[in-house]
Amino acid sequence: MNASLPAKAVAALTEETIFVTQPHLAPLDEFIPYLRRIWDSRVLTNGGPFHQQLEKALCEYLGVQHLALFANGTLALVTALQALRITGEVITTPYSFAATAHSLLWNGIKPVFVDVDADTLNLDPARIEAAITPQTTAIMPVHCYGHPCDVDAIQKLADNYNLRVIYDAAHAFGVETESGSVLQHGDLAVLSFHATKVFNTFEGGAIICPDAKTKQRIDHLKNFGFVDEVTVVAPGINGKMSEINAAFGLLQLQHIDAALARRKEIDAQYRELLRDVPGIRCLPDAGEKRANYAYFPVLVEPDYPLSRDALYQKFRDHNIYARRYFYPLISDFPMYRGLPSAARGNLPVAAAASAKVLCLPIYPTLTSDNIERVVGLIADS
Ligand SMILES: *Cc1c(COP(=O)(O)O)cnc(C)c1O
Repeated sequence: MNASLPAKAVAALTEETIFVTQPHLAPLDEFIPYLRRIWDSRVLTNGGPFHQQLEKALCEYLGVQHLALFANGTLALVTALQALRITGEVITTPYSFAATAHSLLWNGIKPVFVDVDADTLNLDPARIEAAITPQTTAIMPVHCYGHPCDVDAIQKLADNYNLRVIYDAAHAFGVETESGSVLQHGDLAVLSFHATKVFNTFEGGAIICPDAKTKQRIDHLKNFGFVDEVTVVAPGINGKMSEINAAFGLLQLQHIDAALARRKEIDAQYRELLRDVPGIRCLPDAGEKRANYAYFPVLVEPDYPLSRDALYQKFRDHNIYARRYFYPLISDFPMYRGLPSAARGNLPVAAAASAKVLCLPIYPTLTSDNIERVVGLIADS
């Protein structure tokens, strides 16, 4: 059959499409009662009962004291910087999603890019000090792929130079180290509950706050700065999470442990199958006590027969949509590339990783057969 079609086209016709991730969704039937309650109460937003319940439930689940929900992670990042009145320059990583640095530009802050560590691909603490200037007010690291940053070294630098630390923890839902939740570190930490993240509320996000007073200020900022009907204390934004998203989050939370357990199995299967494939390097774990297996990045090394982009294209030809997270580097986007810190020579480790990385499909409903299909294509090159 299809004798006249090239092999590529046959593959595309017959092979099931696999994306890098697929949103994890609790069963629809279980969500209907939540919707009924929203329709009955007619409380749609503004800190309603589901919003309050989800904040409480997430604090318990994550092992943190205070948390403010947001409509998405980017508004939470923008608001976190506002809450701490960050100005001037902020040291951050080029190896992340665009929103990390965009949140700085939206606050009129100049990003200063510092290179990453070759093992974790997180901001390298040893390189931060040289980037500090009199204008530096804060550090914004990312727990990339959910792998914890060197939080102690970063905090030490922050203490020495009186800097604030805001973690972009968008990937780090549920991650724990020996000292507990990784989200407890820094002055603030920001989560994303976007559809593609480990825990999703369709769209959503949160700021982890160290104390009730900070949470209160953040709650004002996410509601236009309103304190009561007639008092506005800051030029706040509309960052509120709706009752639908919050209700869905409560339901999703009931299924998260099963989802994380399945991710762990997939991670183990990939590592086992890829162990002896020359030129493919898996990222080591970063000493988590509890990891979340949010991504499965591999580095395509020079001794692999194909270039990274050729492997990426080979996957696409077989209906597998792996993603090059994070390529291009943030520092290569037009609004950043003119900065002195964006120069390639300043970021050799990030640049090398960005040219080699490919994130393989990982999500709870990914089957063992499909994992074998993915690895089969890698091994057969
Ligand atoms: C997803 C993500 C964000 C943005 O979160 P949204 O909820 O999509 O706004 C920020 N930073 C990183 C590192 C992310 O991966």
